[in-house]
Amino acid sequence: MKNKEIKILLAAPRGFCAGVVRAIDIVEKVLEKHGSPVYVRHEIVHNKQVVDELKKKGAIFIEELSEVENKSRPVVFSAHGVPKTVPIEAENKKIFYVDATCPLVTKVHREAERHHKDGYTIILIGHKDHPEVIGTMGQIPTDKIKLVETISEANNIKIAEPVAYVTQTTLSVADTKDIIDILKKRYPNIKGPVKEDICYATTNRQESVKQIASECEMFFVIGSDNSSNSKRLVEVAIKAGCKNSQLITFEKDFPINEIVKCNKIGLTSGASAPEKLVQDFILEIKKHIKVSIQEYTGAIESVAFKLPKM
Ligand code: SF4
Repeated sequence: MKNKEIKILLAAPRGFCAGVVRAIDIVEKVLEKHGSPVYVRHEIVHNKQVVDELKKKGAIFIEELSEVENKSRPVVFSAHGVPKTVPIEAENKKIFYVDATCPLVTKVHREAERHHKDGYTIILIGHKDHPEVIGTMGQIPTDKIKLVETISEANNIKIAEPVAYVTQTTLSVADTKDIIDILKKRYPNIKGPVKEDICYATTNRQESVKQIASECEMFFVIGSDNSSNSKRLVEVAIKAGCKNSQLITFEKDFPINEIVKCNKIGLTSGASAPEKLVQDFILEIKKHIKVSIQEYTGAIESVAFKLPKM
């Protein structure tokens, strides 16, 4: 094993997207400007390490505004977006809030709202109980928006026409296309988004994984259990041909005994995972075996979002 070298195919782009950078910046700026504590409604982004860092700086994470004990302190809403009732509740309770919803999630909210105003019933393609889905469903009356999660649900949904669809931003590009194709067959006049709702970061990270996964004996995605885009990256790697693909959450041990038996492994990280975790993972492997790294770069990203007033 001493002279053996393992090649790591490192996917790029990977890790933080512009929406995640903005959301973390917002919490840090609010802490800087208003002091601590600052409440954050829901994990600002789905990553334990990010959340723990912000806790150390004075953020208190809550799930609902009813948990705010000191109403004179600011509340930040997470990048995933919130139902309309949440800012209304904050205003009623005279709580100062800053909304860190990713602008690309807000775009989907406005789309759903516009379709509703134009008289459409809306199908939201997404995963039940994900905070982004709860936020998007909460933009319009509940009887005017229906969730579709699977191909079978797309085949069976009965909904009053005219129909429009929107999607969660972090879905599998390929699986979502299959669902949309079915909906288009069932509702030929269905209205979709002008530009895809699945965001650039999700698309680019999946595309890079697709390009390299089939060459790899194992594929690793650094991310959290509750991170939709990270879980989709694992699925994309499996679908692209690397059956032994898994999420590395840092909650449990790495399968190092399996890794050292490989000649080539793949590595990427979800949009909410800091690059430091990728580098830590590589360092850990280096403790056991020689490593060479080859980066595969797909799309070049230059997206950045402005911060809101706070
Ligand atoms: S994954 Fe996409 S939609 Fe979600 S925060 Fe990042 S850029 Fe925004």
